[in-house]
Amino acid sequence: MSKFRLLHIGLDDTDSKDGMCTTYVGAVVVDRLREMGVKIFDYPRLIRLNPNWVLKTRGNCAISIEVETRAELIPKIKQIVFETVEQLAELDHETTNPGVAFLEGGDIPEELKTYSKKVIQDIVTIDEAENLAKRIGAEVFKFKIGRGIVGALAAIGEELKQDKTYELVAYRVPNNRGTKRKIDRESVFKMNELTYPSTFDNIDLATGEIRITPHTPCPILYGIRAENPQTAVKAHNIVKALEPIERWVIYKTNQATDEHIRDARISKVQAERSFMVRGEVCKKPRIIRGGHVIFRIRDESGGIDCAAYEPTRKFRETVMKLTVGDVIKAYGGVKQKPSLPLTINLEKIEVIKLSPVLEKVNPVCSLCGKRMKSAGKRKGFMCKHCKLKLPKEAVRFEEMPRLITLGVYEVPPRARRHLAKPLIRLSPQVW
Ligand code: ATP
Repeated sequence: MSKFRLLHIGLDDTDSKDGMCTTYVGAVVVDRLREMGVKIFDYPRLIRLNPNWVLKTRGNCAISIEVETRAELIPKIKQIVFETVEQLAELDHETTNPGVAFLEGGDIPEELKTYSKKVIQDIVTIDEAENLAKRIGAEVFKFKIGRGIVGALAAIGEELKQDKTYELVAYRVPNNRGTKRKIDRESVFKMNELTYPSTFDNIDLATGEIRITPHTPCPILYGIRAENPQTAVKAHNIVKALEPIERWVIYKTNQATDEHIRDARISKVQAERSFMVRGEVCKKPRIIRGGHVIFRIRDESGGIDCAAYEPTRKFRETVMKLTVGDVIKAYGGVKQKPSLPLTINLEKIEVIKLSPVLEKVNPVCSLCGKRMKSAGKRKGFMCKHCKLKLPKEAVRFEEMPRLITLGVYEVPPRARRHLAKPLIRLSPQVW
């Protein structure tokens, strides 16, 4: 009897802006392996990597698949993976540099787990990935410059033992790719009504936009994000596709988990990564050209600009209600644009402390109880009825009601990054 072995397969960097998607390549590999009788362990994994990485094509995702197989089938499995990548990857595109990784055995080395976190939250080099592979006995294969090995290894190392969600992805037949997606809008609303919040980010209710269909020429018809695979299937059965579905797959994923965010003091914040910083508003929110809202926060280590960009729509109105002295936690990706200060592209804010806003008011007349009027510039106050006069020092300050309360505020689904955790996922009704 031959022995069974566990084999981890990692894939990345197969698409270009003109088409394809690594999730599709993963789905085809899964189907081809199943056809040859290979057992796929658990669900294949869709791991979103650093969303601020400049060389990503779109959503910066990589795929891993864990299989249990007889040892003698391993070479055939590897061949299927290579053939599928070769057949489907957009190899003619300069920026498409696929990478494939294999790791045998059930236990993921600690060093690989740490590396995966780094690829999700930070930046690593191809050399770093290759050296790690050597140390842990993983095999990596590079197509062209093979940048994809960075993500392929990271996808193997993120086991999703903590927070996780699922995404059911349905793919279009080749002839339809690049054309307008045909899907019954009402059925998406019905699906949302029957499955939300166990599915989420299906619709942007403020604008009525359907959020399960992408706007790129990739093979995806729709993707349904869900808390568990059962609800994802239920939702898929409610949605009416008005064009054929070639195949679908359920991925287990780190989407909607905030795994990309690191806590930091402001002075430690770096461009091309994502952070949560706590600070006091030191420059009031203002609207700049393009409808973006910018304000500044500081802590004892420094200051940083925060931005709620135009696509975040109503979130900007919330942000505009902040004032100097308020204390918030700001969550988001950090960008450095030429000649502009480092800026956090806000994904959400938590308002921790509201500063009192005081406004000058005229004193009340002690004789008739009516509000006094100004007696002229620097001349104090006078009661029109009783003619009582008071010096300008009699001015009073009253605390104005604040138009924002303590709590967490997030951008709407239309502006949400794949990794950002929607607030509804914190609600007990999800579970
Ligand atoms: P797809 O959806 O097909 O995977 P994508 O948006 O995920 O496209 P890729 O085409 O995979 O983007 O390009 C990203 C490339 O950058 C990959 O080669 C990946 O291995 C590499 N990469 C991803 N994250 C990092 C990171 N944090 N540091 C360094 N390289 C990274």
